[in-house]
Amino acid sequence: MENRRIQAYVILLAVTLLLVPSEVVSAPLPREQQFIWLSDIHFDPLADPTLTDKLAGAEASQWQAIFASSSSAKLSQFGEDTNWPLFSSAIEVIGRTVPNPSFVMVTGDLLVHHFREHFNGSASVHDDAAFEDFVRKTTEFVGLQLKRIAASKPVLVSLGNNDADCGDYLLQPDGKFLHDTQPIVADLLKEPDSSVLSGWPEYGSYSVPHPVLKSYRIVAINTVLFSARFRNACGNGQGDPGEKLMSWLDAELAKAKKSHEKVWLMYHIPPGIDGFATTRHNGEAVPFWKVSYGENFDRLLSRYHDVIAASFAGHTHTDDFRLVGSPGQRRSLVLMTPAVSPVVKQNPAFRVVQFGRNGVLMDQVTYYLSSLETPEWKQEYSFDRAWGFHQINIKNFEKLYLRIDTSPEIRDRWSLFYSVSHPAGGSITQQSFWALHCASGHSTISEYQSCLSSHKADSAP
Ligand SMILES: [Zn+2]
Repeated sequence: MENRRIQAYVILLAVTLLLVPSEVVSAPLPREQQFIWLSDIHFDPLADPTLTDKLAGAEASQWQAIFASSSSAKLSQFGEDTNWPLFSSAIEVIGRTVPNPSFVMVTGDLLVHHFREHFNGSASVHDDAAFEDFVRKTTEFVGLQLKRIAASKPVLVSLGNNDADCGDYLLQPDGKFLHDTQPIVADLLKEPDSSVLSGWPEYGSYSVPHPVLKSYRIVAINTVLFSARFRNACGNGQGDPGEKLMSWLDAELAKAKKSHEKVWLMYHIPPGIDGFATTRHNGEAVPFWKVSYGENFDRLLSRYHDVIAASFAGHTHTDDFRLVGSPGQRRSLVLMTPAVSPVVKQNPAFRVVQFGRNGVLMDQVTYYLSSLETPEWKQEYSFDRAWGFHQINIKNFEKLYLRIDTSPEIRDRWSLFYSVSHPAGGSITQQSFWALHCASGHSTISEYQSCLSSHKADSAP
């Protein structure tokens, strides 16, 4: 009897620990070293349009005071990008949660959606020059805020599809935006060797020594150039910037291999299948990248499987991952972190990743804003505690993928985390579950399509 009661108590305690997020975010995490990982900030400086002209007439360093003068302190709501009250609350809570991170990583989309339309709607002067200047200052301002997290530590940024002055998926290689942002990115990297940014003006990409780990590099690639939706509409339209970037990446990986270095890749748009877009195309697989780039990338992953130690991406705004590789090939893991912006109706989130001196990723802890009414952030879950894996690697994610497949209980919990604990936002539903889940585990069109058809009966509306 007694044993059974203890057993019941232990189960209850375990369930409680799992389900109740800790209320306080300030307790320092015990593990070796950690970095902050943000994605899809989509900062909207125009949320209070009465400030637009003042912002346009001031330097980025004066913007914080201008935002503070706004009569509205209301946080962004679901369906809106990140306004100043939301962004500043995230920056402050990150600084309190992890007072001394090793570095900050941002996997793209710093800028708000539909920036030009909103700017034209509220700025008195809104010609191209005025807009380009405003975009540069917004990027600089986001950088200044990211620096507040840990002033002495580097901030590594990769570009997203909205990070351009030409428009969504329209970054101009060697154009004004890339030239304007080079000093901003260099300043954030705290990298005295300016040659690390030699690939920036043309590709928006760079390769730097890892801020902490010896014999490791971080290679940030602008995968927007690989996207099926990318157009070089503001440039001369000549050449293939995606192909050039792929060769650049190949060369960087070869250099790392030659000097016995390992590489962490960071980028915005992941390889593989866009499960959400697929649900809108009658279940016909929509790849994120042009198919030829996906195949070239698979070849690089396999050629440099002993060099690429980890990959970090964003873009979908949800809490997801990708198992990447062609059939019969060694697969690799792409981690994906949810967005700060609640525009697709997941709760705003940021992540803390813990890693060892040997380069092993040990855990990732997700924090989220549980209500858009008050700026109270909470811990959502720790990968280790939620799933019982003590390391973040391909083997454990393959196991997790299968468990989501076979256990309804795990499937429900996974789906809850996928939406950053906001299931009402509809980012994953019973109808869309298999389209999204098959995309996590299968990166080629044929494998994805066969995963989908094997679950056809389960996903009938
Ligand atoms: Zn985004």
